[in-house]
Amino acid sequence: MAIRFFNTLSRQIEEFIPREPGHARLYTCGPTVYNYAHIGNFRAYIFEDLLQRHLEYRGLKVTRVMNLTDVDDKTIRGCRAAGVPLAEFTQPFKNAFFEDLDTLRIKRADHFPEATAANHIERMISMIGTLMEKGHAYRADDGSVYFRIRSFADYGKLAHFNLDELRDGVRVRSDEYEKENVGDFALWKSWDEADGDVGWDSPWGRGRPGWHIECSAMATGILGEELDIHCGGEDNIFPHHEAEIAQTECVTGRPFVRLWMHCKHLQVEGSKMAKSAGNFFTLRDLTEKGWTGREVRYALISVKYREPLNFTFDGLSAARSALQRLDEWMMRLRSLAVGASGEVAVEGAEAFDLALDDDLNISAALGAVFEMIRDTNRRMDAANLTPNEAAYLLRWLEGVNSVLVFGPDVEPVSEEVHQILERRAEARAAKEWKLSDTLRDEILALGWIVKDTKEGQKLSPAAPVAMHH
Ligand code: AMP
Ligand code: ZN
Repeated sequence: MAIRFFNTLSRQIEEFIPREPGHARLYTCGPTVYNYAHIGNFRAYIFEDLLQRHLEYRGLKVTRVMNLTDVDDKTIRGCRAAGVPLAEFTQPFKNAFFEDLDTLRIKRADHFPEATAANHIERMISMIGTLMEKGHAYRADDGSVYFRIRSFADYGKLAHFNLDELRDGVRVRSDEYEKENVGDFALWKSWDEADGDVGWDSPWGRGRPGWHIECSAMATGILGEELDIHCGGEDNIFPHHEAEIAQTECVTGRPFVRLWMHCKHLQVEGSKMAKSAGNFFTLRDLTEKGWTGREVRYALISVKYREPLNFTFDGLSAARSALQRLDEWMMRLRSLAVGASGEVAVEGAEAFDLALDDDLNISAALGAVFEMIRDTNRRMDAANLTPNEAAYLLRWLEGVNSVLVFGPDVEPVSEEVHQILERRAEARAAKEWKLSDTLRDEILALGWIVKDTKEGQKLSPAAPVAMHH
């Protein structure tokens, strides 16, 4: 079956066909590094991670770019308030961001371009130059350069509005008097005092790029003029992505992106996440409360990206128990699979793949996993699942885990195995070698090979399956 996704541009579910067969070029808007990313941001990044991993699971090569916005109003305000240079201000937030990606098991993009890198700034300036030459941009009284939205007939095609309606409906704010149209957005912001020592020289004087042109330049600079997929949270649709389309298509004369995918916003305990509401969480806030990255990832991934996700502490507890069930099931399978001589397929395994092919229907995919757990637990209770079926399920789980990455950080070891290990340590201390060997065999029967090292007994799984990410 084909892989199908909802396209924000067409507002339809479409079959996904990359321009180059077997290779998806993906751009995802990254964090503005003026603060720690919050769990809403991570909902977006985990949705994008699921997308990438599913495409890879289905055999596609994915080249992914995620930018870091390290110059904009917020970062400049932050570095001015802290009294340090911009790069020094943003560096700790960049570092924290990468640590958080690891905690949440998010696969690293192939490229993490930074807006302030010289080659990207150069490309932004060159794109703005082209837009000026073609009449899509103009300089205003304050020296800034704006994009003329009236010059692009398709403006509004992503957010689905008509330019004429927009103009009639919007009141012109007095501080924007210098623009031709209230909807025109800045490509280049001329330097003013609030910018301090942040600025680059350009044909339009000293200044800095607008946020939208940063993404257009980094995306096309690395992935080429036409992308397969561009993602972000729903707040990015307008104006950010609408502006990216306008700028890029006016420069290249070609369609910028085939498939636009946006995830719905995260809510916390039923309302909008806001510092003032006291429901604002970074990942660090949650790990300090004792929740693991694995649990937070599961809670954030478990609702389909196009549905609103209400993040609650009850939801985190539910994630914890679901993962515990998974671990217990794995332990049972491991000890059963020790006696396997091969693999025998178990019915229902392909439901997981098909669910994700269907616009990343994660609820159905997780439903398929937990139905499999329920069914086969019942069969194990009745001593009615064979070792070869258990071996098959462990390998199936490895594939599922390459997409969800919900497995344990370290292989779970049952209480029973721990107790035998203790008895075996005592036996060895008393030089009772025969007893030690018998206990080793008992541990093997439960799915573990035990080795004696200088640091004591070490376990490794007897069935050749690992659940690492
Ligand atoms: P920002 O750092 O604000 O540019 O946002 C980085 C990414 O997180 C963008 O793709 C946003 O659309 C996304 N995002 C921001 N807030 C939320 C939220 N509450 N829920 C989901 N995604 C969000
Ligand atoms: Zn962007």
